[in-house]
Amino acid sequence: AKDEGGGEHFAYEPMLHAHAEERRKLEYSLRRALENNEMSLHYQPVVDANDEHVVSFEALLRWNSKEHGFVGPDKFIPLAEDTRLIIPIGKWVLEQACIEATNWPSHIRVAVNVSGEQLIEPEFASTVVKALSSSGLDARRLEIEVTESIFLRDANVARAALEQVIALGCTVALDDFGTGYSSLGYLRKLSFSTIKVDRSFVQGAAQNSAESLAIIRAVVAMADSLEMTTTAEGVETAEEAEMIRELGCSKIQGYYFGRPMPALEARAIFDRAGRL
Ligand code: C2E
Ligand code: CA
Ligand code: CA
Ligand code: CA
Repeated sequence: AKDEGGGEHFAYEPMLHAHAEERRKLEYSLRRALENNEMSLHYQPVVDANDEHVVSFEALLRWNSKEHGFVGPDKFIPLAEDTRLIIPIGKWVLEQACIEATNWPSHIRVAVNVSGEQLIEPEFASTVVKALSSSGLDARRLEIEVTESIFLRDANVARAALEQVIALGCTVALDDFGTGYSSLGYLRKLSFSTIKVDRSFVQGAAQNSAESLAIIRAVVAMADSLEMTTTAEGVETAEEAEMIRELGCSKIQGYYFGRPMPALEARAIFDRAGRL
């Protein structure tokens, strides 16, 4: 519905139009991004909190568009979700991550982000099966990361899809924990192997926020009693890493240990005995 009259709205409309136009152009390019080889994956190391050895990498999607240059995932993932392009793109991510992970030592795992739209798509589990069989990656080396938002809509379908991949031998991590519409009920219903503590709590705790510290402690205690592990996200300094280790998180991810990097660089870490 459009406001009537009101000259003050005059300048506003062309801006809305420009925004829609930019989005349309971005969508046009995104539709062709895979066939134009503009997508790639970067891998960010996750280390054991105690010995700081790399245990896995999280695959993070990168888009270098001919028309738009580097576009961040925070911008194109929501667009891909709205247009359902996330289905073919997400399939590519799974296949590519499994292929690249086969070049790492066999104890190193790979985590792949999966959107709700992708998860509730009927073909999801068979996409995972195909990615594993065509790459030869052992299912136990693949972790699927989902956020709490998948339970807002079609919770039962989402749960069934995750149970299928768990049956294959994969694990599931609950990403960005504490930032969504938390209802702890689903933690009982699905066997997550890992809870990822969102960066905002890590940053809060580093700034001596008593609330953030209390929340991390509570999440670690809850995860322990549910036999899940915890990964702290967004650790940027040695002090934060030490604090997180003392709080009892099992794994750490963040710029302090390594930024997302191309697969070849990730592999080179193991020429240095797995230490960053
Ligand atoms: P996420 O899954 O929470 O991924 C972690 C994000 O935090 C990444 O941003 C990573 O680069 C960034 N990060 C890691 N350590 C630090 C740190 O120490 N400090 C700071 N400031 N940031 C850190 P990125 O790569 O821009 O990805 C943003 C989001 O886009 C991801 O958040 C994820 O939700 C989504 N995404 C990325 N790749 C995919 C994908 O293949 N599929 C889907 N569905 N979503 C993806
Ligand atoms: Ca993630
Ligand atoms: Ca996260
Ligand atoms: Ca996030």
